[in-house]
Amino acid sequence: MSDPVQPTAATHPAPATPATARLQQARDAAARAGIDALLITPGADLRYLTGYHALPLERLTCLVLPVAGDPFLLVPELERPAAQASPAGGLGVEIVGWAETADPYAIAAARLPAGGTFGLDNHMWAEKVMAFRHALPGGRQVLAGPQLSELRMRKTPQEVAALREAGAAIDRVHARMAEWLRVGRTEREVGRDIAEAIAAEGHVQVDFVIVGSGPNGASPHHELSDRVIAAGDPVVVDIGGTTAAGYCSDSTRCYSLGEPPAEYRRLYQVLLEAQRAQTAAVRPGITAEQLDAVGRDVITAAGYGPAFLHRTGHGIGLETHEEPYIVAGSARPLEPGMAFSVEPGIYLAGRFGARIEDIVVCTAEGGERLNLTPRELTVL
Ligand code: ZN
Ligand code: ZN
Repeated sequence: MSDPVQPTAATHPAPATPATARLQQARDAAARAGIDALLITPGADLRYLTGYHALPLERLTCLVLPVAGDPFLLVPELERPAAQASPAGGLGVEIVGWAETADPYAIAAARLPAGGTFGLDNHMWAEKVMAFRHALPGGRQVLAGPQLSELRMRKTPQEVAALREAGAAIDRVHARMAEWLRVGRTEREVGRDIAEAIAAEGHVQVDFVIVGSGPNGASPHHELSDRVIAAGDPVVVDIGGTTAAGYCSDSTRCYSLGEPPAEYRRLYQVLLEAQRAQTAAVRPGITAEQLDAVGRDVITAAGYGPAFLHRTGHGIGLETHEEPYIVAGSARPLEPGMAFSVEPGIYLAGRFGARIEDIVVCTAEGGERLNLTPRELTVL
């Protein structure tokens, strides 16, 4: 039931909802960094702060969030109904439409302090960065990413629940792999079926489909090719999508079409042990580089150190890759609510590769894996 006579945002400030709390947290973070206003164009930061899932287009859409003063969402007039209908319409944030021939940058600049410091979202298009620079002479542009990622990397229980749902959705796709992965089919044919299943199993968007068969498995970001999958091929399948709530899934499992080469069995046991040790080591206080080392040490001791070509993992949320990165050189201690992949891999160029990937959430007690399909090599 809803009250038909709602007070307007103009006369009553919106109640503190998780979204309005985020605006305040972002404003506080900006203030601490000496930023006078955040300028946030379409992307994960805008969705995080307002719930508005706007496509990045040439016309300027921008949340202007001053440290002092009221925020407003600048949108092309033709996007106003969509912005109004999005969760941003219920935030109590003024939506300012700009007419087709108006200069939106001048409209924003007129409401911003001259000579201020402006925090731009990290993915703002260069042409918009330059237009803001022109409209705000004497102003200083800095990246807002460091401030916003500090907020985004600490997930609320609701966000963890959304990631758990995304994890279960991609698990359902892996569980069906035997339907598609067969000798004589190409990676592309298999990939097409997987993409359809990602969409059918709880995602609104297919983000990526990697089917690396035989030697292609040795290229971590190989996607799909016309290679025909042969008997005895190990196959790396790394897949992910985005759910309606905006949260991403990402999970890798390895399959083998019949018995794989003997060395693959050996290598896979090493990898399984490394990934198991790493997921078991997740707890508050362990640093990102310590967690990376837990797996790397196991793999190095077995002689495959140089074949583990990449970092252990990446944070995940409204984007598949975000902070915190689980990488050597990062002394960031993990905290409850941080969600990230644990995905060690071993790649032997020209022969084959293997990777095992789960999304793990750091909890007060340790870690919770959000991907629960078997991690052992699945022989089809
Ligand atoms: Zn992945
Ligand atoms: Zn990943």
